Amino acid sequence: MNKILFPTDGSDIAECALEVAVDLAKAKNCEVVVLHVIDDKERLGPSAHETLKKIAEGFVENAKKKIAESGVKTTTKIVEGKPHEEILKVANEGDVELIVMGTHGATGLPRALLGSVADRVVRTSTRPVVLVPKVE
Ligand code: ATP
Ligand code: MN
Repeated sequence: MNKILFPTDGSDIAECALEVAVDLAKAKNCEVVVLHVIDDKERLGPSAHETLKKIAEGFVENAKKKIAESGVKTTTKIVEGKPHEEILKVANEGDVELIVMGTHGATGLPRALLGSVADRVVRTSTRPVVLVPKVE
């Protein structure tokens, strides 16, 4: 089954992208892969790292639940590394037709055109990328 990759940082904007990912998955009969990358540049002590992981597990599970409730198949993945690199790695693993992600995330300055992760992914992806802004 073909896949739509939904990379999330748990932000409101990623939530907006989730709705688009679900709509496209229904239209294209795809499953949605929910991916979070724990950023390895944030050199944290073991307890902060555990906390981050717990938080990530929480929002990834929430996304999974939402997607499943709308009748779309879904799998989840939490990995560590550089976000854009890991996103592209998963996108290239095969069967990923499309990446759907936010224009910005949790940490971005609103004046920047795109967040750094979105910018790097869209510059280097060999798959189509749908960038979703915050929908008010
Ligand atoms: P910056 O990180 O450069 O300060 P930002 O946080 O506003 O800016 P991005 O990080 O580029 O913007 O976020 C854009 C989108 O990329 C998010 O909505 C989300 O879909 C995805 N994303 C961002 N960080 C991660 C991550 N660590 N793991 C998975 N997806 C991510
Ligand atoms: Mn970010």
